[in-house]
Amino acid sequence: LKIPNEPIVAYIEGDGIGREVIPAAIKVVDKAVETAYKGKRRIVWWKLLAGKEALQKVGKLLPEETVKGIAEVKVALKGPMETPIGTGHRSINVALRKMFDLYANIRPIKYYGVPTVYPYADKVDLIIFRENTEDVYAGIEWEAYSREAQKLREFLKNEFGIEIREDSGITLKPISKFATQRIVRKAIKWAIEKGRKRVTIMHKGNVMKFTEGAFRNWAFEVAEKEFSEYVSIGKPEEGKILVDDKIADNMLQQIILRPWEYDIIVTPNLNGDYLSDAAAALVGGVGMAAGINVGDYIAIAEPVHGTAPDIAGKGIANPSAAILSAALLLEYLGWVEAAELIRASLRKTIEKGKVTPDLARGEKALSTEEFIQEVIKEIE
Ligand code: NAD
Repeated sequence: LKIPNEPIVAYIEGDGIGREVIPAAIKVVDKAVETAYKGKRRIVWWKLLAGKEALQKVGKLLPEETVKGIAEVKVALKGPMETPIGTGHRSINVALRKMFDLYANIRPIKYYGVPTVYPYADKVDLIIFRENTEDVYAGIEWEAYSREAQKLREFLKNEFGIEIREDSGITLKPISKFATQRIVRKAIKWAIEKGRKRVTIMHKGNVMKFTEGAFRNWAFEVAEKEFSEYVSIGKPEEGKILVDDKIADNMLQQIILRPWEYDIIVTPNLNGDYLSDAAAALVGGVGMAAGINVGDYIAIAEPVHGTAPDIAGKGIANPSAAILSAALLLEYLGWVEAAELIRASLRKTIEKGKVTPDLARGEKALSTEEFIQEVIKEIE
């Protein structure tokens, strides 16, 4: 696929600090692209609406024009959006991921020189592949006492003799062979292309045998059937990528105790959610954690963090996660030079102690705008 020199990329600011960090990331990207390609390439940004801003302006949280727009340009940068807990609308983020079948949520966790109490931070270089369409995120759930929950309870009792208390909410956790194998395939291909050494399947298959346990088995199956030339399963072999597995609770412990032993981690949706935030904490917290949601045709990059209502509107949010997410998008477009320039400049800025308040440990903290001006100076 030939990428034009002036591709259109959609962006959605989202809610809360999204409205601060996304415009900041765009300024940094523009400078990096201009510098890396000496003005010969540029991104044409197209603003689309979703979340509260969309509700105010066009009366819908996720307008059709936004969906059509993303489908048309195929690449987007997105800020976080608020999702109410317990009631209200379902997550717009989840809706977008499902709508465009963005089945792989790829989240690199790397150290950028952030002041930290964690002694092994500079050894952390993980890439999390979180399955993005299934598991408890499929959104199949019923409220306690609802008619549907009641019917399901009766069915389970009559058919299988299974008793569930009447005051229980019920969620289903579908995990399919199809969805498992396509994300594992993507992770192994990534490992081969980028020269990574290990792909670890994280699961809770000891408890949920037919969902998480099956995830593990289907993962090994695809590794063995389709990549036997490149991988070795279960035990290390010279010149091959090790594909192995870890139970989820142990995996969380392992990435803290021995992060340098791990490389790519593939996991179902919910595990991936927990793992990403925990892993992000090792390198400075969610303000540093980038992500990109990828399907077969469309990609939406977005920071891992949420709308941060506690600091929204103050102009002090850390834009690094949004900037690094935009770098992933550039890499997706094949503009690796600009992506690398961004990462190197961000690292230099942070190493000089120029950071936003979430990362400051004694040094004077910068505002979002002051911080990106420092990054832009490094790029120049
Ligand atoms: P959060 O990530 O918004 O905030 C957690 C903590 O981290 C807060 O103290 C916040 O100030 C801090 N933080 C987060 N990002 C930061 C940044 N860039 N710079 C500095 N500090 C930062 O998580 P939450 O409070 O659990 O969620 C708030 C809202 O965001 C909820 O409505 C939730 O549903 C939504 N959310 C959306 C997404 C998404 O759109 N992809 C992801 C997670 C949460």
